[in-house]
This record gives sequence, structure tokens and C-alpha cells, in this order.
Amino acid sequence: MQNKKVLVTGGAGFIGSWLCEELLKQNYRVICVDNLYTGTKENITHLKKDKNFEFLLHDVIEPIKKDFGKLDYVFHLASPASVPDEQRDPIKTLLVNSAGTLNLLELARKNNARFLFTSTSEVYGSPAISPQPETYWGNVNPIGARSCYDEGKRFGEALGIAHVKMYSTDIRIARIFNTYGERNKKDDGRVIPNFINQALEGKPITIYGSGKQTRSLCYVSDLVKGLMYLMFSKNLAGEVINLGNPLEKTVLEIAKIIKKLTHSSSNLVFCPLPPDDPQRRCPDITKAKKMLGWQPEVSLEEGLKRTIEWYKT
Ligand code: NAD
Ligand code: UDP
Repeated sequence: MQNKKVLVTGGAGFIGSWLCEELLKQNYRVICVDNLYTGTKENITHLKKDKNFEFLLHDVIEPIKKDFGKLDYVFHLASPASVPDEQRDPIKTLLVNSAGTLNLLELARKNNARFLFTSTSEVYGSPAISPQPETYWGNVNPIGARSCYDEGKRFGEALGIAHVKMYSTDIRIARIFNTYGERNKKDDGRVIPNFINQALEGKPITIYGSGKQTRSLCYVSDLVKGLMYLMFSKNLAGEVINLGNPLEKTVLEIAKIIKKLTHSSSNLVFCPLPPDDPQRRCPDITKAKKMLGWQPEVSLEEGLKRTIEWYKT
């Protein structure tokens, strides 16, 4: 029997490249579609040797014309994800999550393939409740600095749910919370690459605002496992599930842990807080535990140690 065929958009990015690698390990045939907007060829060089791996350079805002034969699963990860990347061209960010999502939903429908959309904890905006369960509707500024990303993802979710209703397409939505690990681009402005590289280079560690705002950090291999469980478990059409690590830390605490693990003499410097920076972020993962039997396993210290080693190379 032929191996099942999986299309992964954004497969040359940070999370996407880990996902492609895991899918190949589990003997899926993988088609990675990416325009290398924020991803890199280096992220997938090691995968290109695998006969089950295929790469298509393509912007998913435009429909995919190439015929790959019958697709079984579509993971839609393509989207800038760091705050500077998403705001560089806000229209592109809105389009990849709206027009791009529609193109891929149509592709999934034509192929009778299962579809997973990678949404984000940003749909909760600056949450009024913590931890955030999937039932919380969020507190998002629709015209703020982050709205291109937040509203793009909210639209993508709504589009997915509309497809379930109209065409009974089997769609699952992952609300991913802050994820870190190897292959997260050094200079994409996210907190973990910034802090580790500043600490390793002995440069000041840039704390935005008071540093009292919180984030909950999930190591990438845990997250990818969650994505696979969500896609490959039965009877989850239309389900929206938080994936993240519920261990909540302030940004100041994160800086101090990284300083300690890197044995760095860097100072902490306080910089202005970017607009609409959420004050708290912590996933309620009760649903993921119950429906997927999933929870993160890699401790923050272990995940950071692995990530630090990668940034050293
Ligand atoms: P990333 O920037 O490393 O990867 C995104 C990939 O999408 C890149 O390879 C990029 O080139 C590709 N891409 C962007 N626009 C495209 C387009 N128009 N056509 C084709 N490819 C395009 O980011 P990531 O952290 O790996 O995020 C992957 C997905 O997970 C994103 O959808 C993001 O919104 C979501 N997510 C990530 C996090 C996180 O903490 N990393 C949190 C929440 C949600
Ligand atoms: N942050 C910081 N210094 C940095 C980068 C980020 O203090 O050099 C803070 C940022 O203000 C936010 C948190 O770290 O409160 C997480 O930022 P990131 O951009 O990684 O993710 P997001 O804000 O999208 O959760």
C-alpha cells in the first residue's frame, strides 16, 4: 500500500521543519510548500535526501496548480509568526491566513483530505482571564499593531468552521501558545532567540516593559507531537484545541533562567513595551489532555539547554 500523503504549508519554517521531519520518520510522504518568506532552505536541507520528501516553492496566497495526486492530510502552517515578521507586511499576514487558508481548504475539500489550521493564542488577545480555555472569546484590538496577525488567525478559524458547516470537511484547529527550540531563527525578534543570543554574546538582555508580563513556553518537539495527535486522532472534525505548556513565567524570570543556563554576564536593560503586548498568556490544556491524551513532557530547563546548544553552533 502507498504511504499516506501529507501537504505541509510553511514546512521550511521553525515548527514546520520539525513537523516534516517527524512525519517522514513515521513514513508519510511529505510535500512541503513554502515561499521562504521567513523560513529557510537550511531548515529542510537534511530532509531533501529522503525520497518521501518533496519541496514546492510557492506563495499559498495563490492557489496551488501542481497536481500531487491524492492528498490525505493538509497541515496549514504558512504565516509569519514573530511580531516583527508579521508586521513587516501586514497585508501579506492577513492574506496568508485568509485567502491562503481558503485556497488550502478548497484543496483539502477536493481531495477529501483532513485539514489542520495552526491558529494561535493571539486569538485571545490580552486576555481578561487566565489560564485561557478554548471557550474564551478573547480581547483583541481589531485595528492595533498586532491585528494583522490576530484577526488573520481569527478569520482563518472562522473560515475553517464555515467549511465544516457547509461541506463537512474534516477540519481541526490548533491554538498554539509560545513555542521555542532549535531552528527558531536567531533574528526573528522573539523572546527566546533574543535572550539566548544576547546572553551568549554578552550583550544587554532587552526586557520590554516591566518584564512582569507572562508567557508559557512549550518546547517544539512537544508541540509537534500535539499537532500530530490532533491531526491523526479520529472523530475531531471541527474541534479547536489549545496546545502549549501551562508553566507560566514572567519575562523577567525567563531572562534570569537563560542568564543562568548560559553563564552569561549580560545586564538586563529595560526597553519600551511594544503596543498591545498581552500581559498574561497561559493555556488551559484540559481539553488537549482529555481528547488527545497529550501534555508537554520536556521541562523548560531541558528545552532551553538543547536550544542554547543549537544557537552556539
Ligand atoms: P516561521 O516563520 O518559522 O514559519 C512560517 C513558515 O511559513 C515559513 O517557512 C515561511 O516562509 C512560510 N510562509 C509564510 N508566508 C507564506 C506564504 N504566503 N506562502 C508560503 N509559505 C509562507 O514560524 P513558526 O513559528 O514555525 O510558525 C508556524 C505556524 O505556527 C504559523 O502559522 C504561526 O502562526 C503558528 N504559531 C506559532 C507559534 C510559535 O510560538 N512559534 C505560536 C502560535 C502560532
Ligand atoms: N520580549 C522582551 N524582550 C525581547 C523580546 C520579547 O521582553 O527582546 C517580551 C515581549 O514584550 C513579550 C514576550 O517577551 O511580552 C514574548 O514576546 P514574543 O515576541 O516572543 O512573543 P509574543 O509577544 O507574540 O507572545
